[in-house]
Amino acid sequence: MLHIKNYINGKLVEPQNGNYVDNINPSIGKKYGVIPDSDEADVQLAIEAAKKAFPVWSKMSDQKRSNYLLKIADLIDKKLDQLALAESQDNGKPVWLATQVDIPRAAANFRFYATAILHDSTETHSMGELALNYTLRQPIGVAGCISPWNLPLYLFTWKIAPALASGNTVVAKPSEVTPATAYFLSEICIEAGLPEGVLNIVHGLGGKVGSAIVSHKDVPTISFTGGTSTGKEIAKIAAPMFKKLSLELGGKNPNIIFADCDFEKMLEITLKSSFANQGQICLCGSRIFIEKPIYEKFKTAFVERVKKMKVGNPNKKVDLGAVVSEPHMQKVLSYIELAKEEGGTVLCGGKRVHPEGEFADGYYIEPTVIEGLAFDCRTNQEEIFGPVVTIMPFETEAEVLTYANSTMYGLASTVWTSNLQRAHKIAAELHTGIVWINCWLLRDLRTPFGGVKSSGVGREGGFEALHFFTEPKNVCVKL
Ligand code: NDP
Repeated sequence: MLHIKNYINGKLVEPQNGNYVDNINPSIGKKYGVIPDSDEADVQLAIEAAKKAFPVWSKMSDQKRSNYLLKIADLIDKKLDQLALAESQDNGKPVWLATQVDIPRAAANFRFYATAILHDSTETHSMGELALNYTLRQPIGVAGCISPWNLPLYLFTWKIAPALASGNTVVAKPSEVTPATAYFLSEICIEAGLPEGVLNIVHGLGGKVGSAIVSHKDVPTISFTGGTSTGKEIAKIAAPMFKKLSLELGGKNPNIIFADCDFEKMLEITLKSSFANQGQICLCGSRIFIEKPIYEKFKTAFVERVKKMKVGNPNKKVDLGAVVSEPHMQKVLSYIELAKEEGGTVLCGGKRVHPEGEFADGYYIEPTVIEGLAFDCRTNQEEIFGPVVTIMPFETEAEVLTYANSTMYGLASTVWTSNLQRAHKIAAELHTGIVWINCWLLRDLRTPFGGVKSSGVGREGGFEALHFFTEPKNVCVKL
């Protein structure tokens, strides 16, 4: 049994109330550990520790802070196998995926920001002989970082790394559903000799630990990734306190396929953009729009390939592992039922899978393709966040733009075409924070990352994140 502890003031500690909640392995549907059911008292201790650590950490040289973060990155690399296995046990994703994507990216997040601060500079604005202005970008204080369960260590570190690199101290909460790699990260920080109180990790329920962080007067900055409804709750609490907020929320991303695209390349990547990580990536393209002349060809080829995808034991070379939890599996299955009620036809998939042996009770769902739905029905408007996509034909650019932009979300979109003019034109017209042309999930960590409309507020990535975690101060010197 994995017995997870909080990481407060440099030490692994039990929750003060002594309470724990179960941690379930979704690939077998059984408890495999416990995590602290922490409350406000633990959050208070973590914030006190972070406040105490702030003066020294924020004034430390960039080089020295960078060295600590690089050491953490190296230790993540060293523990790749252990972390990848833990991520798979917690989340249900294939071990190979965690080994190739989640854990290397967590190390890359630390390395990226550890070195970014060494190359950062601020602006000066000269007023000739009259005066010189220069901008100081100073860390804010204690940053609250709250992350979801779909890419646990990947997204946790995507917040923590820039917050720490820019000189803030942190109180962080991973999702209660996937706490294991955050716990191992606390062990890594101890091994790396990170000064006590610089990073604090409090485990527990969102409604208790998360809201205690968000509502605390001594946490002026909140970086949150999760669902849009949780984001709304956080914004309501944070707004009257004038906190700085970064919200990365849900998506219902369009994948637009024109007849002139490279068909084979598009097919190969569309399988990934539809079903990678069991469709539980905020960037997955869940609404696929296909230009009419190739609709039937696409449908036949896509469904044939989807039917061949392997679902099951995440320790093997499967395409899909388990979805994250029983309630989430039920939610996804209920959306498939809704799609049928709304007049959709399930072309393949649609059911729970019971793999052999000890995996029979795990939470597996077949990759599912649905057609025949209106663009504005609930199935095509609400985030399902599972291995379910809809396919729809379109005739004109104007028509597909109406479909694509019709949801309340605006995170990412994908366009497949060999017509460069059209690609740029459509990219400019799509209401999303990210547009991929003839690719998907090709990420350069320097680029701004985030959504518009109900997909979020603010941007992560590159200098955007360093700027988020600092306050610019203009200093005007009369000459
Ligand atoms: P949730 O919003 O349920 O949870 C996200 C985090 O917030 C968890 O740590 C959760 O804790 C915590 N939390 C829950 N309630 C509160 C609260 N009242 N105050 C503060 N914190 C709280 O999202 P999921 O974990 O279900 O993640 C899936 C969602 O995340 C999807 O909508 C997906 O699109 C989105 N997402 C967005 C991304 C983006 O970059 N835009 C990237 C990845 C995912 P606990 O788990 O313990 O309840």
